[in-house]
Amino acid sequence: MSKPRVLLSFDVEEFDLPLEFGREISLAEQCRLGTEGWARVLDLLARQQVIATLFTTGVIAEYAPHLLKRSATEGHEIASHSFYHSAFTRADLARSRATLAALSGQEVVGFRRPRFASTPLAWIQEAGYAYDSSDNPTWVPGRYCRWHHPRRPYTREGVRVIPLSTTPVFRLPLFWLSFKNLPLPVYQALADWTLRQDGHLALVFHPWEFLSLASYRLPRYIASGDGEALGEKLERFLGWLKGRAEFISYREFHGE
Ligand SMILES: [Zn+2]
Repeated sequence: MSKPRVLLSFDVEEFDLPLEFGREISLAEQCRLGTEGWARVLDLLARQQVIATLFTTGVIAEYAPHLLKRSATEGHEIASHSFYHSAFTRADLARSRATLAALSGQEVVGFRRPRFASTPLAWIQEAGYAYDSSDNPTWVPGRYCRWHHPRRPYTREGVRVIPLSTTPVFRLPLFWLSFKNLPLPVYQALADWTLRQDGHLALVFHPWEFLSLASYRLPRYIASGDGEALGEKLERFLGWLKGRAEFISYREFHGE
């Protein structure tokens, strides 16, 4: 049996989350924070010597093309997180793909819609993508209920769908909020169980999580444990995970 795989991903985006909670934040400030976190994540990945897939918006790529270039040069996969984080039209699929490819020099084959919203697979396929990673097949209160969606990757309408990892049986999502809010040993036990069952883990974080968010008065479950402490927690986790699995990009996983 091949070694288990880890698909580590970051959604590289303008930090528009405060808008959801009625806080004001300018686009320039959103981009500044997104970029600051992005540089921190690249440093962290370089220290740990692991590769990731960076689902990047067109907006933040145009704001910091040097970081996009650096990401590609350091071996990370550049994938699309649409063009804008706060708005979506069908044309944004092709526009973000073309922008990211032109600025990074990489062919872009992966898509993840902001906020894990659903997009017709036919649109994704028509825009030239090979895989979609927009599904979190579980229940997230106030957002969506996707208990009935497949937990494991599948192909439909010419697109490989690679859902985020949830645990077997009760489908606890292993996404960023769980990592942030659960004690590390608990999260590791859940990750280990899922890795052994599925043979892979698909994980998501955001660069802005690794900054101090205290001044934005966000709910505790989002803002607690942010900044450097969270970065240290992630490094401990990655160090643990490296002994159990091989880190590959979504693109490589899709090609296996
Ligand atoms: Zn996002």
